Amino acid sequence: MAIKDKVIIIMGASSGIGEATAKLLAGKGAKLIIAARRMDRLERIKEEFPEEDILIQQADVTNYEDVNKVVKCAMENYGRIDVLYNNAGIMPTAPIVEGRRDEWKNMLDINIMGVLNGIAAVVPIMAEQKSGHIIATDSVAGHVVYPDSAVYCGTKFAVRAIMEGLRQEQRENNIKSTIISPGAVATELYKTINDKKVSETLHEAQKEWGLVPEDIASAVVFAIDTPDRMVISDMIVRPTTQP
Ligand code: NDP
Repeated sequence: MAIKDKVIIIMGASSGIGEATAKLLAGKGAKLIIAARRMDRLERIKEEFPEEDILIQQADVTNYEDVNKVVKCAMENYGRIDVLYNNAGIMPTAPIVEGRRDEWKNMLDINIMGVLNGIAAVVPIMAEQKSGHIIATDSVAGHVVYPDSAVYCGTKFAVRAIMEGLRQEQRENNIKSTIISPGAVATELYKTINDKKVSETLHEAQKEWGLVPEDIASAVVFAIDTPDRMVISDMIVRPTTQP
């Protein structure tokens, strides 16, 4: 199926990688349902593509009802879902000794439960369709543990495990499972870091060798645009000069 015929949901589409992916897919004529908490940012994306099929939905990925509402919107308008891109995430990294339990809880809720909520809402539909593709933005931090980033890395290791489990369980229903694992990308994600020292260090690193969101968007589109027989299950996309 050509990208222009695909019904694609993007969770976390209001900025950064999700926004860049929405715009790249809109330019290719995909039928998009884009979701996040900031409606003003989603409206701006829709306004940029007045000719394209873009539906916007306010959703907090930690709330299953919100996620299910987005899925229902896709089904009511198009009667099927070809791709769910679970991209929402935050990265309030800090040394473990600081014991930022509220931040840990929020990160686990958004980065892990957000992905699981999306999976729970679409897998029964895709299983019935006998086709579908679920993509998650993982991270190099889902493959390697960095100092001061233990909990963020833990969330991304978890997503990698969940997505591989999904692949194993749902391959017979023809459901593809893909994780895209970026290195540093210049986005608003770095604003979610509240520890001053970690924030400065990571901001500097990201400025020195970070990718732009469009780089990851092109990887996502590459993964979407594969033949039915083929799935890219894990794609690591690093800045060339990142250590
Ligand atoms: P941004 O901060 O620009 O984008 C994050 C997106 O997630 C926004 O659209 C935001 O929308 C959404 N989001 C956050 N919390 C929620 C929530 N509770 N409910 C719904 N949406 C939510 O950062 P990036 O583009 O960098 O981040 C996208 C993904 O990429 C994340 O999963 C991140 O972990 C991953 N990643 C990023 C890297 C980087 O260096 N930038 C490297 C590796 C992975 P809103 O606030 O409007 O709800």
